[in-house]
Amino acid sequence: MTAPIKQHLIDPAVCIRCNTCEATCPIGAVTHDANNYVVDVTKCNFCMDCVSPCPTGSINHFVKVKTPFSLDEQFSWSDLPEIEEIPDAEGPAISVAEAIDDEAAALLDDAHKGAGGQMKAPLSASKPRINLFGRRAPAEAKVTGNLKLTGEGASADIHHIILDFGTTSFPVLEGQSIGIVLPGADENGRPHKMRLYSVASPRDGERPNTNNLSLTVKRVIAKQPDGREHRGIASNYVCDLKRGDAVRIAGPFGSTFLMPDDPESDVIMICTGTGSAPFRAFTERRRRSMPNAKGKLYLFFGARTPEELPYFGPLQKVPKTLLDQELVFSRLADQPKEYVQDRMKKRSADLAALLRKETTHVYLCGLRGMETGVEESFASICREHKLDWASIRMKMRDEGRFHVETY
Ligand SMILES: Cc1cc2nc3c(=O)[nH]c(=O)nc-3n(C[C@H](O)[C@H](O)[C@H](O)COP(=O)(O)OP(=O)(O)OC[C@H]3O[C@@H](n4cnc5c(N)ncnc54)[C@H](O)[C@@H]3O)c2cc1C
Ligand code: SF4
Ligand code: SF4
Repeated sequence: MTAPIKQHLIDPAVCIRCNTCEATCPIGAVTHDANNYVVDVTKCNFCMDCVSPCPTGSINHFVKVKTPFSLDEQFSWSDLPEIEEIPDAEGPAISVAEAIDDEAAALLDDAHKGAGGQMKAPLSASKPRINLFGRRAPAEAKVTGNLKLTGEGASADIHHIILDFGTTSFPVLEGQSIGIVLPGADENGRPHKMRLYSVASPRDGERPNTNNLSLTVKRVIAKQPDGREHRGIASNYVCDLKRGDAVRIAGPFGSTFLMPDDPESDVIMICTGTGSAPFRAFTERRRRSMPNAKGKLYLFFGARTPEELPYFGPLQKVPKTLLDQELVFSRLADQPKEYVQDRMKKRSADLAALLRKETTHVYLCGLRGMETGVEESFASICREHKLDWASIRMKMRDEGRFHVETY
């Protein structure tokens, strides 16, 4: 049996036959007949040059197949055919659904590992566009804001960065990430690896219909074994950006860690630190698009102190009818340490009632270290209320209702 391969396809039902892709492709992989524009699987090297100029998005289809579709088959189509899902375990090693860019795909595969299996997007989620820009041909955004979110003296330094795309179309959905393409090279002269950052604003921008997006970035300063400091390459670059600076961006990436667009759905969001970024986007999306939704958002947000909790001030202004929030601090003077998993247990009855509903979605985001405690809390809440966490978790994941993105 031959190993599965990636194939790039064009959706003939959406394509307007404008010839842009054929004119753009540097190696002649796109061709057409009187019926369709198609991509030659023997030539395409996934450079992505054709993707962002396509006016319809019809070219943005990447699938994993055991037997590639021939040119003649593609010429005969009026729609994309149903394509059998092939598990990631059966090569190629990258998750085609999340990102075609190998670097971004590997980072997302790792970030989603905690879900314990293939995550699916919520059924009601909008369809994301991915891979519009890559390292070879990144989008350029201008920094229009860089605001320090954490208080003076706090041990974390977290910044809210606003990136404006000007006239470039860079469509994102809440829960997606973008790649920062760094200037310069490492000590061996190789270009720095891409880093992913979650989008912190909703799909229509910081304010409705602004062509911008925001990020929530924590400056990484780590002590090396010899006592010297390692200053994180990308996070320090981003946190030091000034208004007017140009930044090279790849993406958008991610097609599963998306929010349900269903007013009935309850959404439990559990995070620490910069894991709040996608949940800021979720909350703002709900507030703008369905302020009277029947479903509710529940936020369990952990930090050491209020000074270190990004968006602490603005969170106080979100109406209680929209967002039920538990802000949890582990280093308050004169108070015992409390972590998100401890607060979850205090809301045990509410969480158990939510887990019983078919319309509840769970999202975990932030540092990987939080996963174990949160998992244990869900398991203990379920035991207390005669539920089986392992089977609920698996059912939710299969139905696109359980999501983990940790790093
Ligand atoms: C899907 C996804 C979404 C993400 N979203 C966000 C987000 O919204 N906000 C955010 O802040 N981050 C986010 N991240 C994390 C982000 O991508 C980066 O990993 C993070 O900013 C650190 O990158 P860096 O280049 O600053 O650090 P790096 O230079 O890559 O260092 C990272 C760590 O590696 C170790 N290290 C590396 N080199 C050395 C060395 N020479 N000596 C000692 N230690 C070393 C250190 O422990 C350090 O803490 C996300 C990651 C993923 C995968
Ligand atoms: S991805 Fe690159 S090689 Fe493939 S069709 Fe598009 S432009 Fe051509
Ligand atoms: S650029 Fe897009 S719309 Fe135009 S021919 Fe190619 S696939 Fe079709």
